[in-house]
Amino acid sequence: MSKIDLLSLTLEDTQMLIEEMGEKKFRGKQIFQWVNKGVKDIDDMSNIGKSSREKLKEKFYITDIKIEEKLTSKIDGTVKYLFLLEDHNIIEGVVMEYNHGLTACISTQVGCAMGCSFCASTVGGLIRNLRAGEILDQIVVMQEDLGKRISNIVLMGSGEPLHNYQEVIDFLKIVNNEHGLNIGNRHITLSTCGLVPEIKKLADLQIPINLAISLHAPNDAIRREMMPIAQKYSISEMKDACLYYLEKNNRRITFEYALVDGVNDSKDNAYELSGLLKGLLCHVNLIPVNTIEERDYKQSKKEEIKKFQAILKSRGIETTIRREMGSDINAACGQLRNTYIKNKK
Ligand code: SAH
Repeated sequence: MSKIDLLSLTLEDTQMLIEEMGEKKFRGKQIFQWVNKGVKDIDDMSNIGKSSREKLKEKFYITDIKIEEKLTSKIDGTVKYLFLLEDHNIIEGVVMEYNHGLTACISTQVGCAMGCSFCASTVGGLIRNLRAGEILDQIVVMQEDLGKRISNIVLMGSGEPLHNYQEVIDFLKIVNNEHGLNIGNRHITLSTCGLVPEIKKLADLQIPINLAISLHAPNDAIRREMMPIAQKYSISEMKDACLYYLEKNNRRITFEYALVDGVNDSKDNAYELSGLLKGLLCHVNLIPVNTIEERDYKQSKKEEIKKFQAILKSRGIETTIRREMGSDINAACGQLRNTYIKNKK
């Protein structure tokens, strides 16, 4: 029988499994607190007796991801990590410093199956899903390494969070728990390329996190060129899912829009996008596309980005341009991992 990862368990599941072993329920909370504090060895749980620890060790283990490489930007202090998983896979995460504290951008899968044409994470396809504990341990390890609390989380590293639905939901429950890292739902953003049924499922859970949708195009024709998922779900179906989400959660949705020179950055594109989003409780985040080695997309010119933003604003759509962070350390998702894998070979 393979062992169960304690760090992947919600408080309720921990309590249930511990009670099943004949232990008292409050032991479950103690164990949950230890693993979320970063304890990696069951023997270090000092308020648990030796015989109980021996029993625990037979059934459980604790995820323990390691920092394989760490790069710190000289420009803005952004820190990029390559993490080594127990099965020797590599994932990456980033910590950025904003006025309101540290924001961690973490991965939900090793690689990605979505195939977006501008994205580095998807180049080698999907290797496997991360367990909730592996998603969480990125935060635990970053906090320990930096000696500072992470206050915000964005699920914008490698992987499609809604393609690893159950583990991501468990992660959200664990990270938000007051006996764990206790990071507020409002400080967590889940970014998705738009898996319509899962957006609706997430809406039904009514967890007040922020939802970000990778839209990147004002119409289906352009979106299909950039994102294979657009073959499966139309923008109109996705918009319906967003309306359903808003009905259930009433929290402003963010639309991410990576501007690619000559592909989706014309004035007409901006007008079409304004029409699409009109009346929706939302915000557009314009991202100058990061050029990656494997693709020949170019960033839109600064003036074009400004013009694009001005059109959206003139139509009453709130828009920001994403600041580039860590440009000297290859901070865009997937790039560092790809370079690492190439060099290893
Ligand atoms: N799979 C999820 C989350 C991971 S990607 C999603 O698609 O939303 C996080 C964000 O980075 C997404 O908006 C994605 O489209 C964007 N992104 C990926 N590659 C990029 C690149 N080269 N330049 C700019 N943004 C990129």
